[in-house]
Amino acid sequence: MLARTTSLTLSSGSERAMLDGHHQQQQPPSSSAAAAALQDEGGVDGPARRVVWVPGPVIVGAGPSGLATAACLKARGVPSLVLERGGSVAPSWRHRTYERMHLHLPLCFCELPMAPFPPGTPPYPSRDQFVAYLDAYARDFALEPLFRAQVRSAAYDAAIGFWRLQVDVDAGAGDGEEDGGDTTTTTTTTEFVSRWLVVATGENAEPVWPEGMMAAGDGVYRAGPVMHTSAYKRGDGFAGKKVLVVGCGNSGMEVSLDLCDNGAKASMVVRDKLHVLPRDILGISTFGLSVCLVKWFPIKWVDALLLFFSRLILGDTEKYGLQRPKIGPLQIKRSTGKTPVLDIGALRRIRDGEIKVVPAINRFTEGGVEFADGRREDFDAVILATGYKSNVPSWLKEDEFFSETDGFPRKEFPHSWRGKNGLYATGFTRRGLMGSSYDASRIAADIANQWTEALAASSVAAAAADTN
Ligand SMILES: Cc1cc2nc3c(=O)[nH]c(=O)nc-3n(C[C@H](O)[C@H](O)[C@H](O)COP(=O)(O)OP(=O)(O)OC[C@H]3O[C@@H](n4cnc5c(N)ncnc54)[C@H](O)[C@@H]3O)c2cc1C
Repeated sequence: MLARTTSLTLSSGSERAMLDGHHQQQQPPSSSAAAAALQDEGGVDGPARRVVWVPGPVIVGAGPSGLATAACLKARGVPSLVLERGGSVAPSWRHRTYERMHLHLPLCFCELPMAPFPPGTPPYPSRDQFVAYLDAYARDFALEPLFRAQVRSAAYDAAIGFWRLQVDVDAGAGDGEEDGGDTTTTTTTTEFVSRWLVVATGENAEPVWPEGMMAAGDGVYRAGPVMHTSAYKRGDGFAGKKVLVVGCGNSGMEVSLDLCDNGAKASMVVRDKLHVLPRDILGISTFGLSVCLVKWFPIKWVDALLLFFSRLILGDTEKYGLQRPKIGPLQIKRSTGKTPVLDIGALRRIRDGEIKVVPAINRFTEGGVEFADGRREDFDAVILATGYKSNVPSWLKEDEFFSETDGFPRKEFPHSWRGKNGLYATGFTRRGLMGSSYDASRIAADIANQWTEALAASSVAAAAADTN
């Protein structure tokens, strides 16, 4: 039975502001057809449902990628509605990063379109500096996402040629993660309907918990806290404790270093081979150097050069239990998306024996773990640096453009930004913020073209109607 539909209901400030703003402009002609179709949908029974027709694109996610896309659209005169499940812009950076974190790449590779970092920003901005930059970005472009709006599902309705999004909009005042969850909230489900859907929910939407590993055999660890790095803030609470860090990517290395700096005894699980590179080579960022060199030389040569300098600066990492893959770091990045670790000091601590490298885990025990070599060891806490995954398959009812397996577009960069029927993806290039900026400008240009064509057609139709 169809739910009774309340068409084009507007209530929240952001929705209203965006739509009011748009009323000063002409609307693309297909909009009235869609609105009519929505009104037709109303049945007589069932609970009332709010439906909001959005004249411009709907962008899901107010992280750097979503903000950049909204700003680029705005610069081209196209209004958009940004839906964000958190209570602020860039909640991932605000709430799911550790305090000592700095951008891994130099600021010139992390700028969003049309907005250089303010003068005096250090080459590797801190988390707080980056959050302040994103706040200023949203302010300067007058971007007003609809916060606490979690998209539960989105599907293309071929009958009307529009995307329909089911969104839980929370009327609470708190910022979820920040206030530990606001219990005084009321949630309403609203359907947003738009011609264009921009997916900006990120490569790192959900933490990965190694469930199988945690549940294996009789192994349930009970001796202390278990947390994902997304919940780790700082190491002072772990002073004097034996902490197992599971994973050795950039987060695993940095959390181990932070634990060590705070007087904890960190052991880091290294299961796979990995490349560790110095963050800077001869005062130049390793990333910047690589980007420059691959423009002129074959990737194999650049890899060889990076490994030569790494050996010179960091020594033989294999001596410390960090085996290098046979294929070079840039080739691996290109073929699998796996990023090399950029060392900011953890390697010296490993060399000095302050961070212990331990093998893969066979299973958890009540007091600790059993390693793959059969050895057992107890720990006071476990921190999972096991990465993140995309959440797109959990809400987007589409599997042609996005893969159901990993939630990334099936096409590789630079073709990963546009799907069919007005579907777009930003921030899924495995190229960090540079990739997000690239996507944002391409998407904005593409939608702006359609927007302008639709407006022109609408004006012609209006003129013809006047003449008649
Ligand atoms: C620890 C770490 C360090 C990094 N350092 C760098 C660096 O130095 N340089 C660099 O270029 N890149 C870096 N990256 C990679 C990347 O640039 C960042 O992850 C960046 O935040 C990606 O931006 P995004 O907007 O695509 O994703 P996010 O910042 O994750 O934003 C996605 C947004 O979507 C929201 N969302 C998700 N699902 C829904 C839903 N269903 N409904 C509504 N909203 C939803 C989320 O709440 C989130 O706010 C780093 C990544 C990590 C994890």
